[in-house]
Amino acid sequence: MTDAHLAMGEGREFDAIRTMLQVWGARASGIGDDAAILDVPAGQRLVVSTDATVEGVHFRREWLKPEEIGFRAAVAALSDLAAMGALPLGLLLGLGVPQDWSRSLVAIARGVGDAAAAAGCPIVGGNLSRAKELSLTLTVLGTAARPLERGGVRTGDVLYVTGRLGGPRAAVRAWMEGSTPRVEHRARFAAPRPRIAEARWLVDAGCHAAIDISDGLVADAGHLAQASGVRLELDLDALPCVKGVSLDEAVSGGEEYELIVAFPEATGVDVVTFEQRFGVPLTRIGVACDGTGIAIKGASRVDQPRGHDHFS
Ligand SMILES: [Mg+2]
Repeated sequence: MTDAHLAMGEGREFDAIRTMLQVWGARASGIGDDAAILDVPAGQRLVVSTDATVEGVHFRREWLKPEEIGFRAAVAALSDLAAMGALPLGLLLGLGVPQDWSRSLVAIARGVGDAAAAAGCPIVGGNLSRAKELSLTLTVLGTAARPLERGGVRTGDVLYVTGRLGGPRAAVRAWMEGSTPRVEHRARFAAPRPRIAEARWLVDAGCHAAIDISDGLVADAGHLAQASGVRLELDLDALPCVKGVSLDEAVSGGEEYELIVAFPEATGVDVVTFEQRFGVPLTRIGVACDGTGIAIKGASRVDQPRGHDHFS
């Protein structure tokens, strides 16, 4: 991989790409050939994911600044690398841009660049086209010697969750009600963090399965249970919530980009050191047992939890 970009021809599309490259500076690498060339370290597996953010489906124009749209879309993709315990290798940005968004292109690119830089992930390619609605499709590549799979939970494992939940759902609820979300709720929606460094630390500590919370804590725990062929008993009384959210918002809200991780009971994990190091809590939320599905203690305080379904 080279840091230099190839020279590009004339025209508005290339002008737009050149403008984005100026915004990205050293954050973009080797742009302009037919495809990106990346080195995968010996002994590592390549981990790849793609994630689309579409106006009207994942956000509304009036909710977010263009920078935040770019940042959040990149985090959504990078979070899947975190969920696999992978180290970012590169990111490709596919942009569909309507005419009336053209002037926001630089700001959207800046948001993507900021998220990529924060995750230590170079931007290595992409595609730009006209479209009816704004869409950002992020493809992320990463490497891991031993990727964390969602089918890796075993009976007897202990489950933990990173961070504090409920902010994104509370922010969306406020917007839908026509009010202004609390600053801390809006921040959790507009500027989530991919838990990449956290995941790497958790892998080193013995974590052997993980999923990121994109559909909601209970829904994603359900995905873990199903993939692993175990029953997960969750005790949500101690679930850390963002200030001012309901437990229901914390357990059913999607797009948190926190991680649910599993450790063998004998290994356990030092939650105090985790919090000191990363500034967010790591909280025990349950255990894996023989069986299938999810059981929730403290469920009397939770409305029937549902995850986020993009087709509903
Ligand atoms: Mg995911």
